[in-house]
Amino acid sequence: MESPSKQCEQVARWMAEARCTIAFTGAGISTESGIPDFRSPGGVWSRYRQIMYDEFMRDPAARLEYWRQRSDPEMDMSAAQPNAGHHVLAQWEQAGRLQALLTQNIDGLHQLAGSRRVVELHGTARRAKCQDCGSTFPARPLIEAFRSTGCVPACPACARDRLKLATISFGQPLDPDVLEEAFAWARRTDLMLAIGSSLVVEPAASLPRLASQRGARLVIINREPTRLDAAADAVLHGSCGELLTQIARWLE
Ligand SMILES: [Zn+2]
Repeated sequence: MESPSKQCEQVARWMAEARCTIAFTGAGISTESGIPDFRSPGGVWSRYRQIMYDEFMRDPAARLEYWRQRSDPEMDMSAAQPNAGHHVLAQWEQAGRLQALLTQNIDGLHQLAGSRRVVELHGTARRAKCQDCGSTFPARPLIEAFRSTGCVPACPACARDRLKLATISFGQPLDPDVLEEAFAWARRTDLMLAIGSSLVVEPAASLPRLASQRGARLVIINREPTRLDAAADAVLHGSCGELLTQIARWLE
C-alpha cells in the first residue's frame, strides 16, 4: 500500500484535474470536534429510548421525552466548533475547488466553518421546525427554555406544541427534494471524496456508489474500512482533519 503522504499527493492531483469535485461527509469528520458518533455502541443513543416520528406527532408524553433527550448536555452539539477538516472543505469551496458538500451530519459545523453549498441529508439540529405550521426557529433558545421550565416549547408562530429539531427522526422519510439534489450532484461529479462515513446508512450511502458507477473517481477518507473500499480509487485511513490538511498542502 502506498504511504499516506503519496496518497494525499495523488488525491490533490485528481482534484486539480477534476471539473466537479464534491464531498460527502459523515460523523467521522465531526468526532474531531468532540461530537460523538451517535450510532456507536455505548453512545448516548443507546441510553435512550428511540422516539419514532409518528409517536412524536400523536403523543404529548413522547414529545416531553423527546425534549428531555435533546436537552441532555451530551446530546447538545450547539457549543461544538468546526475543526481543521471542516475548514479545509470550506476553503476549497471558496477557492472554487469544491462544488458541493453532501452531509449526513446534523451539527451545522460545515456552515459554521464557512461552507455555503451544503446539502444536509438528515436536516439540522441548529434549527427547530414546527410540524404544524412549518415555521423554523433557532434551536438553542428552545433547548434552553426546556431546561429551565421542563415544558415542551410551544411554537412561537402558531402556539401548538409539535416543535421538533429540524432533523430527520426515526421513522421519518428523508426530504425528497433534498435527496434529489444530492443525487443530482452525485450524477454530475467526476471526483467524489467520501469523508468520515462508514457508508452503511441508506439511502445516503448509495451516493458515492452512484458516482463511482457513473465513472467518477471515488476517494474514501475514514478511520475504519468501509463497505465501498473495494470500489474506491483510493482509500486513506486516518484522521479526516489531518488527511484533508495534507491534501490541501499538496494543492497549494
Ligand atoms: Zn407552528
